Parts: sequence; structure tokens; C-alpha cells
Amino acid sequence: MTMETAETLETTQADRNRVLVEIEDLKKYFPIHKGLLHRTVGQVKAVDGVTLSIRKGETFGLVGESGCGKSTFGRVLLRLQSATSGKVLFKDRDIHALNAKEMQKLREEMQIIFQDPFGSLNPRFLVKDIIGEPLRIHRNMSGKKIDARVVELMELVGLDPSRRNRYPHEFSGGQRQRIGIARAIALNPQFIVADEAVSALDVSVQSQVINLLMKLQKEMGLTFLFIAHGLNVVRHISDRIGVMYLGKLVEVAETEAMFAAPLHPYTAALLSAIPKPTPKKKLERIVLQGDVPSPANPPAGCRFHTRCPFVQDKCREQEPQLEEKLPGRLAACHYPLLEKGNGPSTVQVSIHAK
Ligand code: SF4
Repeated sequence: MTMETAETLETTQADRNRVLVEIEDLKKYFPIHKGLLHRTVGQVKAVDGVTLSIRKGETFGLVGESGCGKSTFGRVLLRLQSATSGKVLFKDRDIHALNAKEMQKLREEMQIIFQDPFGSLNPRFLVKDIIGEPLRIHRNMSGKKIDARVVELMELVGLDPSRRNRYPHEFSGGQRQRIGIARAIALNPQFIVADEAVSALDVSVQSQVINLLMKLQKEMGLTFLFIAHGLNVVRHISDRIGVMYLGKLVEVAETEAMFAAPLHPYTAALLSAIPKPTPKKKLERIVLQGDVPSPANPPAGCRFHTRCPFVQDKCREQEPQLEEKLPGRLAACHYPLLEKGNGPSTVQVSIHAK
């Protein structure tokens, strides 16, 4: 073995050691049924071939418009929904191949924080029972031990433990989300999917909850998949960001690199939707045309071609693959923005249906 080969193998192994969740060509299709006989007449391709590695201790932000498949992706990742095909490896174990008992054990390490702090908490349960439920199910703990752990968890997420004998409706939206977070971290998980965890909250409360998640990540060494529909929400918390469009990842990059110069026209469009308090100069606008196509019948070639201002013949015929366009920067586009020399420093883009 040459020195170079040995070094390459070492680097590959080091990269592998950093990965907590590895997703390989993951697909989730929902059948469309019609008629009295309930015949399958098509499929909604909610997640359509996503490959991604999430590293230990990082926050990976996942963004895209409503219906792009990001929440379904998060759920299939935790096996809350089955996969149509593909693999999800958590610490090198294919979670969709585990039996029920193995999966229940693994659930201790993989948790979810839901979007709706109102709907995700059982209104008939006391807060102490909601937070303590995973401890009762997974750890078989006694009442006293659960109570002590509930007190500890409430303090950790900034809630007053003396209010543990109250019901969820006695708490504000932000406090209810903190209850959801306390429940999610009760079993000391390693990986948490935060599915639009701050989307239903006021902007000021959003930042408090994001700061709490960052604090917990530091203290507990957590890894997050943080799902949101706006890039501005994920910027503060994410190390890397993935942008999803019609069930596919179209760009993956380190957060600041993406904000400095997005490669994919869709990412640039999402960035332009973020209000800028003091725009320094008037910039050229790029208008996206048409509505988002149906995931049951996605366009041929590049899925974004029906709305892309840079569309060319090749885009309609050949599907671009997600590949490295710059070191550490992946994009699925035949003509990424930097190659055209019209990155966001000279062009302002915005999402508009014509
Ligand atoms: Fe636009 Fe073509 Fe790139 Fe698709 S491949 S995003 S249509 S330039």
C-alpha cells in the first residue's frame, strides 16, 4: 500500500467516525388511490432519493417550502414512517431493518420535537406525566425517581419545576415547546429531529427556544436535524444547511458559505425572501415563474426547471445530480450561480408566481 493510499484510507475512516446518521438514497412514496375499488393510480414522491451524512455534534438545518418533503424525511429518518426504499444508518445500524424490540431500544437515542406545542402535548396529562412518560416506558423508573428527574429536566429547559402538577393549557406557547424539549431529552438521546420546532412561535420566543437548543447541544453533545421552512430561522443554529425541493436535496453547504454565495438558483430565491433591514444597493431581481409542481408528477430533467430563470435546454432533458461544485459544497444544478458569475452579491432574486 502506498503512503498516499494509506493516508486516503485514514481520512475516509476519520470522516466515517464523525458520522452519526448516514442516509442512502432514501425514498418515501405515498400511493394515490382512486375509485370504488381503491385502485392505486399514482404516487406522491414526498422524499425521492436523498443521500446525506449527519455528523456527530452538528446541527444540520433542512429548509424548503411547504410540501417539499422535509418533515416526511425527518419522520422516515426516525422510522416514525416506513421507507419505500433506501437506508438510514444510525451508528452504522440500518434502523429500518431492526425488529420492534431493537427499535424500541434505539428510540432512546433518537427523539423528535414536534412543530405544534399545542397539539403535541396531551391536554389531559399533567406536565410531570408528559415529561416523565419516556422514563416510565423505557427505564421502568419508580414514581419518586421520575419526579426527581422531571424536576431536573424542567430546570434544564428553564421551566419552574413547582408547576409540574399543572396542565399544558396553563403554559404559554414557548413554555409548552420547552415541555416538549424536556420530554425529548429525558432519556439523554444523541440525535434529535426538531421538526419545525419554532415555526409556531412568535419571533422573540423563537430565538429563546433556539438559544435553549444550542445550550442543550453544548451541554449534552446532541446532534440535531433542524427542519424549518425559512433560511433565516436555521442560520443561527445550523453548522450546515440542506435545501430541499420537491423531495430532493438541491444544495448542501456550510451555513455561512451558503449565505455568502448560494450555488443553486432556488437557494438564492429562498435567501432573497429574508427581509433585509438596510439594503445597501438596488439589485437586479430574478423572478421565479409558476407554482410549485405536484410531487405526484414532478417535471422531467431538473425539477426546478419550470420556475428557474436560468433554465436551458439541457435542464429540461437531464436531471442534475447533487455533486461537489466547490470544495465541501454540493449542488444539483447544471449551471450553478457562481459559474455564471452572478452570485447574490450582484443579483437579488425573489420568489414570485407570475
Ligand atoms: Fe435552473 Fe437548470 Fe440549474 Fe435546474 S439545472 S436549477 S433549471 S439552471
